[in-house]
Amino acid sequence: MVRTTCPYCGVGCGVVATPDGQGGAAIQGDAGHPANRGRLCSKGAALGETLSLEDRLLHPEIDGRRVSWDMALDTVANGLRDTIERHGPDAVAFYVSGQLLTEDYYVANKLIKGFLGTANIDTNSRLCMASSVAGHKRAFGSDTVPGLYEDFELADLVVLVGSNLAWCHPVLFQRLEAAKRARPAMKIVVIDPRRTETCDIADLHLALKPGSDVALFNGLLAELAHRGLTNKRFVERHTVGLDDALIAARASGIDTCAVPPTEVALFFDWFASREKVVTLYSQGVNQSSAGVDKVNALINCHLLTGRIGRPGMGPFSITGQPNAMGGREVGALSNTLAAHMEFGAPDVDRVGRFWKAARMATRPGLKAVDLFEAVRSGRIKAVWIMATNPVASMPNADAVREALRNCDLSIVSEAIRATDTVDACRIRLPALAWAEKDGTVTNSERGISRQRPFLPAPGEARQDWWILSQVAQRLGYGEAFGWTGVADIFREHAALSSFENEGRRDFDLGTKANLSDAEYEQLEPFVWGQTKDKRFFANGGFFHSDGRARFIATASRAPVNAPDEGRPLILNTGRVRDQWHTMTRTGKSARLAGHRPEPTLELHPTDAALRGLADGDIAEVTSSWGRSVLRFHVSEAVRAGEAFAPMHWTAQVSRAGRINAAVNPAVDPISGQPELKHTPVEIRRLDMRWHGTILARRPVMLPEISYWARMRGAGHYAYLVAGVQSLDAARRALSAAVRAANPGPWLDGDAGLGAVISDGRVEALMSLGEARDATTRDRFAPFMAIDRLTVDQRNELLHGEAVSDRGGEICACFGVSCGAVENAIACGAGSLDAVGAATQAGTNCGSCRPEIRALLRAARLKQAA
Ligand code: SF4
Repeated sequence: MVRTTCPYCGVGCGVVATPDGQGGAAIQGDAGHPANRGRLCSKGAALGETLSLEDRLLHPEIDGRRVSWDMALDTVANGLRDTIERHGPDAVAFYVSGQLLTEDYYVANKLIKGFLGTANIDTNSRLCMASSVAGHKRAFGSDTVPGLYEDFELADLVVLVGSNLAWCHPVLFQRLEAAKRARPAMKIVVIDPRRTETCDIADLHLALKPGSDVALFNGLLAELAHRGLTNKRFVERHTVGLDDALIAARASGIDTCAVPPTEVALFFDWFASREKVVTLYSQGVNQSSAGVDKVNALINCHLLTGRIGRPGMGPFSITGQPNAMGGREVGALSNTLAAHMEFGAPDVDRVGRFWKAARMATRPGLKAVDLFEAVRSGRIKAVWIMATNPVASMPNADAVREALRNCDLSIVSEAIRATDTVDACRIRLPALAWAEKDGTVTNSERGISRQRPFLPAPGEARQDWWILSQVAQRLGYGEAFGWTGVADIFREHAALSSFENEGRRDFDLGTKANLSDAEYEQLEPFVWGQTKDKRFFANGGFFHSDGRARFIATASRAPVNAPDEGRPLILNTGRVRDQWHTMTRTGKSARLAGHRPEPTLELHPTDAALRGLADGDIAEVTSSWGRSVLRFHVSEAVRAGEAFAPMHWTAQVSRAGRINAAVNPAVDPISGQPELKHTPVEIRRLDMRWHGTILARRPVMLPEISYWARMRGAGHYAYLVAGVQSLDAARRALSAAVRAANPGPWLDGDAGLGAVISDGRVEALMSLGEARDATTRDRFAPFMAIDRLTVDQRNELLHGEAVSDRGGEICACFGVSCGAVENAIACGAGSLDAVGAATQAGTNCGSCRPEIRALLRAARLKQAA
């Protein structure tokens, strides 16, 4: 039994893994971990299904050929050396990831900033929370998250801004849900253009116009001051800049938010009348060309009222990734230095002396969007990507692919062989995956936890710090990179955090700098901070040189790219409940594929009708940057004029489903964070002549068709397909592809069904027709689980009507379909508990409870009508 940490979201839940001795492990929540106290969401609970070595990169490769580690490392080191000698240090860049452990992150940052002489290292956390970092620094003088998770439970009002907590941070959502159940007087306000599942527990949902958050919080600031709620003692002693902030706030009109005035008034009343207020915000705030101003506009309201750093109050930025905070601590953003230090005197000199740096970077490097643009234009000639998939996740993603394909030296360290980015890079270095890595991560409340390996390293895969250190040694920096293990690196990281600190910097792990190896191994989760209760700023103590916080005057401004006649809709992107980032891990779980199996696009009924789009159609999204083809759904959760698409699908699982190919690369001018939630687009229906489903035991190399999406089933792959060529031609081409990968006798059945059945076992089946049948996958998947069909089963498959009660999975833990829950409700289950008793749905991880409640509400409305 090994205690470790979940590799997905920024909640940072503790996990207990019990290896089965055959390469797998049973996974449970760690009851002793303070973040989750035993809870796990659907993704965490399915971690055991993602451990297979399928799709893993297990050996170093150069130009598609397997090579030895020595050759790969020599090639990388020589390539970096040559590039620097010929073009200077700024011709080199690293693009790293919130998936790296802190120790890996530390080594990458030390190598490039201290020894290669450039700060051209950025992390994919730039896409997630760079605006929060910049907002914190402007307001507090440091990138400090003031509060703790327990503040949500202690608050009388929790304001969730741009956060679908129910799906993106489910265990925190469950903690909040439980707190509200225990204390119904607690109010929850959701501020989000979309009506997300988080609204399920909200007392008020403000569906504001995208990009108008600054106007709303400026309005709140002016109103709080008008009502005499300024905490004069706090403001006078601990802040500067209120007058200017109020002038800007009063000049800002809240009518741009397009929210009914009565709802705005109610929100202002609740904020004004409750002392214990937490404002939790996430990507809806950060991923914006005005992200930093949004952050400061909401922090201003907490500074005005002095509601910060005390139990149950404060602004709280929640990060998307498991170690985004660790990346901030080691300084992996291109504009920061290690240990929360900054470019400029005296920090550059201080870090340089501590590292005994050979060539210390002295100025900030390029931020993610600019970094890949520099790769594309040839200014950067060598780029090393670690544990991230920018060809799928960056905005204007096709340009990133082109940049990598044309780069002189493109290197990727990656655990997974089949990713869009690995495909585009020349040198591929096999890295360890979650179950094999050793180190620490920091969650959104500054909680540091150990991540411990519980499976052996497969093939020749190595941990990222080792790969980086080997390259450093080949470049002649052996002494500075001579660690023997992760405990060594952690001690150095902790020592740097306290080096010449004396309370001037928030981040100080000095008490951990002398941990023995055994103490490091046994390290219990802990939250770092300078006070006994680990919160910051209740009594001032900000990190600007005068010790005061700054109010920031924020003016509301429109997003960079406005919709126009040709692109009249605003595309918003986000996440679904059961997938993580680019699906390299969650995509391996058949259970998790049940909830949202395809890349989808949602549009309001009015806009759908205008475009002749109906549920289940195939739709094309086009923008000035690219296109994507997705399954269409009508949804009243999005406002008219807006569209929503999840960001998870890559070319590996849906050739044209990468939504980021269409997303605009506009960025916030201060943080450089891309505006992933606001792209002007047009959407049109694609006229498909046929639709179909393929289930196959072995992956099928599909011919060129208009639309396909691949997902895992139990023991098979499932493909949903559609196209514009003739049905007969499609049938010929697809059956040939299916049979090439799944040989055996082909049998034709009724209604466009064909199957390869060998020794009584279905190797593959394909159903094509002019009309779409959304139930085919669920109806036929049970036949793939049968080892030898009986005669009746074979007849039922080929000629009968296989039945399914499914229609979309709702509960991933127990595989309960939407249809089964609806049946239970129709049979009298009138509450969450009753549905749970009848079907088991919602009784384990709880991630599906908002959707079950929505079905209960819909049934009640139907009954009342
Ligand atoms: Fe993992 Fe879910 Fe916990 Fe996030 S909430 S850390 S995804 S178990």
